[in-house]
Amino acid sequence: MTKNALCGCCSVQGDFAKIDQKRSGRASFESINYQESDLVFSLGVRRSREKMNRVYNFSAGPGVLPVPVLEEVAKEFPDYHGCGMSLVEMSHRGPVFSQIIRETRDLLRELLSVPETHDILFLQGGGHMQFAMVPLNLLGAAAEASYIVNGVWSKKAAAEASKFCRVSVIGTPSRAQVPHPDSINVPNDAAYLYYCMNETVNGMEFNYIPQCPDCVPLVSDVSSNFLSRTIDFRRHALVFAGAQKNFGPAGLTVVIVRKDLLGLAGETCPTMLNYQVHSEAGSMYNTPPTFAIWVANLVCKWLVSEGGVEVMDERARLRSKLIYNAIDSSDGFYTNTITPSTRSRMNVVFNLREEALTELFVKEAADAKLVNLKGHRLVGGLRASLYNALPVRAAEVLADFMADFAKRHG
Ligand code: PMP
Repeated sequence: MTKNALCGCCSVQGDFAKIDQKRSGRASFESINYQESDLVFSLGVRRSREKMNRVYNFSAGPGVLPVPVLEEVAKEFPDYHGCGMSLVEMSHRGPVFSQIIRETRDLLRELLSVPETHDILFLQGGGHMQFAMVPLNLLGAAAEASYIVNGVWSKKAAAEASKFCRVSVIGTPSRAQVPHPDSINVPNDAAYLYYCMNETVNGMEFNYIPQCPDCVPLVSDVSSNFLSRTIDFRRHALVFAGAQKNFGPAGLTVVIVRKDLLGLAGETCPTMLNYQVHSEAGSMYNTPPTFAIWVANLVCKWLVSEGGVEVMDERARLRSKLIYNAIDSSDGFYTNTITPSTRSRMNVVFNLREEALTELFVKEAADAKLVNLKGHRLVGGLRASLYNALPVRAAEVLADFMADFAKRHG
């Protein structure tokens, strides 16, 4: 996608210019008009003027955000584009925020080629709230929904859904792996088929779109690979993502849902959990997370300026390949047991042959400014999350570190 492809639909040209200007280092924080006695702001600005001492952050989420976005937020935070107040002090129904939320929706629609058949909702409550909202909104009169369970997050989603309906489980929950496509058999009367496109904890990602009858909506949790690859909305009726990995700060959840599925929620569905309510209110039924949506808006502009989702996909492949190569060429010093074709591009999980060295690996890596590499508490080991904003260079440095660590301790 080119920059210009978006400029007709929203007023982002100026902001691209600004972001580009900041990336080239020409813009500065000089224009912020603040009192020296404003300790928090002045400290922040002073620190930003110095060379930033950023680490390579492999956190699984909240995860790394693009530096130009963080700089723009720092610059505009106390006085949003000359409004005399910060964005977080403004009414969400005023013209400034209304424009931001509209523009963010337009940008997402462009970036992911979301067709008009689908609505884009900005909600709160994270992935966990979607685990309940999906069945509450999509069950309709059906008694059963099908869930592919192949890791921690799909298992949790299936458990939550079982409070509302019969859950037919596909896969072997005790053995986390993407099931063979032929093993997915969904009955015509299932309310929907649910899967988690990228299992963040287990480090595996679907390399195909699960098949289900045309009459059965396909639902996917894309929390940890959102905006890192294209999504086929002819096949997906609903996708959702917590923002805090590839899209912005925690507190924002995006739901992209086919409009003909709105209105299926029963009478007893709480108002705040009803997609139709949020759709009709333009995601402003209640006060939306204004700060998170502003940052997500800037992330969208950054994505456009970098070349869009396809470029993110290429970079994700490159970064993850560097780490998988480091694992595979280590003669078993590092191990990863995921079927290679379903290894995640976003979250690389691995173990050390000698488990006792794990703590030392984490410590030495942190000393080398490679941080947040400890695996999820449920599975242990190590995990390198390689989200969109992580420079490819970070993966190169980590791969070098891994080779060096193996040489010294192997
Ligand atoms: N789904 C996936 C794939 C996740 O990675 C996570 C959390 N990291 C969740 C759901 C839960 O999200 P939240 O903490 O926003 O509720």
